[in-house]
Amino acid sequence: ANPTIAFVGLGNMGRPMVSRLLSAGTHVRAFDASPTAVEASRAAGIEVSATLVEAVTDADVLVTMLPAGRHVAAVCEEAYPLLATGALHIDCSSIDIASAQAIHASAAARDLQSVDAPVSGGTGGATAGTLTFMLGGDAAAVERARPILEPMAGRMVHCGAAAAGQAAKICNNMILGISMVGVCEAFALAEKLGLSHQALFDVASKSSGQCWSLTSYCPVPGPVPASPANNGYRPGFAAALMSKDLGLSQAAAGDAGLETPMGALARSLFDRFVEEGGGERDFSAMIEFLRGPAPA
Ligand code: NAD
Repeated sequence: ANPTIAFVGLGNMGRPMVSRLLSAGTHVRAFDASPTAVEASRAAGIEVSATLVEAVTDADVLVTMLPAGRHVAAVCEEAYPLLATGALHIDCSSIDIASAQAIHASAAARDLQSVDAPVSGGTGGATAGTLTFMLGGDAAAVERARPILEPMAGRMVHCGAAAAGQAAKICNNMILGISMVGVCEAFALAEKLGLSHQALFDVASKSSGQCWSLTSYCPVPGPVPASPANNGYRPGFAAALMSKDLGLSQAAAGDAGLETPMGALARSLFDRFVEEGGGERDFSAMIEFLRGPAPA
C-alpha cells in the first residue's frame, strides 16, 4: 500500500524534499504555517493543506522539517493524537538533543514509532535528492523510515538509538565550523605572507591540512570554482545556520559536562559575524570577518 505522508515545514529544505517525494509517486499532504512558504510551495507545484489538522489526520507517516525543537514539539503535540494508529514520525529538522529525546518519548507514550533524521547536503542536496540522512531510533522504526526517505536520499546512516542522528549532525557540524575557521585563518595569514591562494591550496589540499572546508568549499575564489567564494558568498550554507548548529553542540556539551573549547570559540566567532550582519551570507565569508576592516 502507498502510505499517506503528512509533511510539515515547507521552507528552503522542505519544499524541494516534498517535490522529490511527489516525483517518486508518494502520496503527500503538505502544510506550513507561513503564507509565504505556502505561496512558494504552490508556485513549485505542491498542493498545500489548509490546516495542520487536515494534513495530519489519519496520516501513516508524519515528516517534519522545521527550524528548531520548540517548533517540532508544538507540531507533535497537535498532530500525534490525529495520526493513524501506530504511525511513524520522522523528524528531519536539526534540533537539540534534549528536545529530540522528549519527542521520541512522547511518540512512544502514544504507541507511535519515531526516528530523528537530520540531514546534510543543503538545498542543493534536497533538490537533487542526494541528502545524507543521519538516523536515530530503534531498528524497526528505522527500517520503516528507509523506503520513505529513499527519494530524498543519497545516503542513510543508522547512527544509533533515539537522538543519535541529532548527535551525529551536531558533532559533524562542530567539526565543520571549527575547520572552516581554521582554513579561513590560514588563507588570511597566507595573504599577509605573500603566499598565493593557489599555492596554499595546491600544497594543503594534498597535505595534512586537507579537509572539506578547503577542498570542497574553499573560502577564497579560484581554487574550487563551485565554492560560494566565487559567487559573492551567496549561500550555500548561511552563517546564521552555522551559528545555530554551533549553539546546539555547545548546549549538548554543556549538558554532558564536556568542555569543547574550539567549538565554543568557533561559536562565538560565528555569533559575532551574524551580529555584524553576516547571517544571510555563506558561512565561508568568515574569512572577510577574520581579515578585519580593509586598511584606509
Ligand atoms: P526554513 O526556515 O526555510 O523553513 C522552516 C519552515 O517551517 C518555515 O517555512 C516555517 O514557516 C515553518 N514552520 C515553523 N513553525 C511551524 C509550525 N508550527 N507549523 C508549520 N510550519 C512551521 O528552514 P530550512 O532551511 O528549510 O531548514 C529546516 C531545518 O533543516 C532546520 O532545522 C535547519 O537547521 C535544517 N537544515 C537546513 C539546511 C539548509 O541548508 N537550509 C541544511 C541542513 C539542515
